[in-house]
This record gives sequence, C-alpha cells and structure tokens, in this order.
Amino acid sequence: MSDCIFCKIVSGEIKTNFVYEDSDVVAFYDIKPEAPVHIVLIPREHIERISNIKEKDAGLVSKLFLAATKLAQEKHIETSGYRLVINCNKDAGQAVFHLHLHLLGGRKLTWPPG
Ligand code: 5GP
Ligand code: ZN
Repeated sequence: MSDCIFCKIVSGEIKTNFVYEDSDVVAFYDIKPEAPVHIVLIPREHIERISNIKEKDAGLVSKLFLAATKLAQEKHIETSGYRLVINCNKDAGQAVFHLHLHLLGGRKLTWPPG
C-alpha cells in the first residue's frame, strides 16, 4: 500500500531500526512509547486490521506472537510481565491501518485499559 506508514517502514522508505526481523515479520520501537519497553510488531504483508485475517494467515499471526515472546525475553520483561495489544478499528483507537501487535512492559500496567 503506497500510502501506508508501516509498509514504508517495511520497504525502508522510512528508515527505522528493526529490533527483530524475519521473512514475514518486522519489529521496531514505537515512536511514541507508552511504556519503557514499547515495541510494534508487524507482518511485512499489508493486512489492514486483525478482523481481516483469513485461515491462510494463521502461520503469520503465530509468527507475530512468537517474535513478541522472543523480544519479551530479550528485553528482560518476561518475568516482570508484559502486555500484548492489538487495536482494531475506531473504538479501540487503531491509528495505523496495517495490522500490528504492541508489546508493552517495563512498568506496572493498569487494568482495565482505558
Ligand atoms: P495503533 O493506535 O494503531 O494501535 O498504534 C499505532 C502505533 O504506531 C502508535 O503507538 C504510534 O505511536 C506508532 N507509530 C505511528 N507511526 C510511527 C512511525 O512512523 N514510526 C514508529 N516507530 N512508530 C509509529
Ligand atoms: Zn501497510
């Protein structure tokens, strides 16, 4: 998608340091962090939102979560705790319409979320 910020990050048009990458997934620090560790994980493929995933995307979605667990270990928040968040559409505050998983940790997170 030519006007998608996250597609531009994947292609390198917007220069971003990846904290993780494989053939299907890339991850990078959020530009406006909400926690000491706030990493965004995205599929390289443009999928607009979690509600658009199909059976064929099962492996891809698993890879997002597997990468998040690796990063949680690497960033030493596995034991203290962390949260994985996917915002879908307006009421959840989705701002970028390219599927992404937030990994948040490094502080006490409140529940329920706002
Ligand atoms: P959403 O609200 O859609 O779930 O989350 C989008 C996230 O992407 C936000 O937390 C926002 O700060 C982050 N973000 C938006 N544009 C950029 C960018 O150009 N670079 C990085 N690193 N993060 C971005
Ligand atoms: Zn995109």
